[in-house]
Amino acid sequence: MTPSNEAASLRGENSPWETNVIIDESRNRIRERLREELEQVCWALTRILGRQSRWSGFADLSDDPNIRGAKPFRCDIVINAILASQAERWRTLIHEMLHTFSEGYQPLDYMAFRGWEEGVVEQLQRTLRPAVLAELGINLDEAVFTAVETDHEYEEYVRALEEMRESLGEESLRFFSRLLAVPIRDRRQSVFEQGMALPTVRRRAFLGAYSSGDAILKTGTRR
Ligand SMILES: [Zn+2]
Repeated sequence: MTPSNEAASLRGENSPWETNVIIDESRNRIRERLREELEQVCWALTRILGRQSRWSGFADLSDDPNIRGAKPFRCDIVINAILASQAERWRTLIHEMLHTFSEGYQPLDYMAFRGWEEGVVEQLQRTLRPAVLAELGINLDEAVFTAVETDHEYEEYVRALEEMRESLGEESLRFFSRLLAVPIRDRRQSVFEQGMALPTVRRRAFLGAYSSGDAILKTGTRR
């Protein structure tokens, strides 16, 4: 501490140095809490999905306002520093953690089939969230999450996949958790083959949902 900082400190004022230490400490506490929460989410998802996560066990905060959550391909998890202290974060923690359970999660396949990954992960997040939070003993009003989800960036992907699922007549958890276990690059073909095994009349309805949905999952938009 410099003499002038010491004087400020004696006057009960925070020096810039002390302020930085306080900010660093609180940031470290948030990061550590986040890591513990992610660990709990990871355990719950492992039990529910019966699959192993590839999460590195490392969590970090980002100040980028464009990032809510991210799962770099090295398998760390990064969460927006402001979101990290809001109740709504749970949906992001579950979403990012689900990527670590996804088969074939690697850059080239992800970029080529982004909708087939983000749509699957996001709809699984919505489907599994109540069970995950119940297992963690967390009681939150669903409105906290639905406000974000009505205008979600992956909404188009979710709807495209939901239309395919409905035409296949498969239950949501079964359909999406099965797809998570299929390598990203093979998901499209896997759903197509499932549809082609349907009786003729239902197959026609499936092909309608599949061709319009596939276009969205490739381009990410109906427009
Ligand atoms: Zn994602």
